[in-house]
Amino acid sequence: MNNQLPFSQSENKPSKAFAVTDKTKLKRVANRAVYDKQEIYAILDESLLCHVAFDWNGAPALIPTAHWRIGDHLYLHGSRKSRMMEILANGVPACIAVTLVDGLVLARSTFHHSMNYRSVIVYGSGREVTDPTKKDAVLAQFVEHVIPGRNAEARPANATELKATSLIEFDLKEVSAKIRRGGPKDDAEDMQRDVWAGTIPLTLTAGAPITAADSKVAAAPAYTQNYTRVKTTV
Ligand SMILES: Cc1cc2nc3c(=O)[nH]c(=O)nc-3n(C[C@H](O)[C@H](O)[C@H](O)COP(=O)(O)OP(=O)(O)OC[C@H]3O[C@@H](n4cnc5c(N)ncnc54)[C@H](O)[C@@H]3O)c2cc1C
Repeated sequence: MNNQLPFSQSENKPSKAFAVTDKTKLKRVANRAVYDKQEIYAILDESLLCHVAFDWNGAPALIPTAHWRIGDHLYLHGSRKSRMMEILANGVPACIAVTLVDGLVLARSTFHHSMNYRSVIVYGSGREVTDPTKKDAVLAQFVEHVIPGRNAEARPANATELKATSLIEFDLKEVSAKIRRGGPKDDAEDMQRDVWAGTIPLTLTAGAPITAADSKVAAAPAYTQNYTRVKTTV
């Protein structure tokens, strides 16, 4: 795997919004709709995990997996033997969901309890990336997405490992986000009830790194300390 990352910063600084299509137009609580690329890309970049839905012999299938983004493309990778990878490489339409849960919202009535969240849905058909140079660079960027700094130290993937890995590229074209922020929204007649109302913020926090018993290097590198998914730039 190539440790150099040949993607320019400008690819990571989108400014426009996604066009709203019949598929991506929010109908339920439409005021929570977001189509701004920068907001959507920040969600995709913060999350480690997506869920990929596709048709499998006429039945719905849903698989959790890792994703990453470069510019206006989303990438998934996996074993060449994976059912999902085979199906996606054949261009079967997929729906990919990315979800960040930001808090629990406790209203005065159970009905109005809610969650704060930022979620993205991507529709599209993928294609396999076969060009070895591009594949190498895109996979290196996956490592960078998960743990910045690691590429410079870990052994790059060799030819056999790259061959065993499928890489699928999706165009980010048909995309929506839905975002809920803020406190509870109660009915007027419940506002005077003697019951606590408010939010419990939730964040992903990393523990202290645990050095493997057989690690030749004892001191955990700086990039493992205070690990966070929240990026200061998108
Ligand atoms: C953490 C979390 C908890 C939730 N809990 C509930 C719950 O308990 N009950 C409930 O009914 N809903 C819940 N939602 C909202 C849910 O995701 C749907 O938005 C909602 O159910 C409406 O679905 P629909 O098919 O009627 O959407 P529609 O508005 O008909 O969807 C039309 C289009 O809008 C876009 N869209 C819809 N929802 C989302 C989304 N969440 N993110 C990005 N794009 C979207 C898609 O492009 C979709 O094709 C929750 C969402 C999150 C992230």
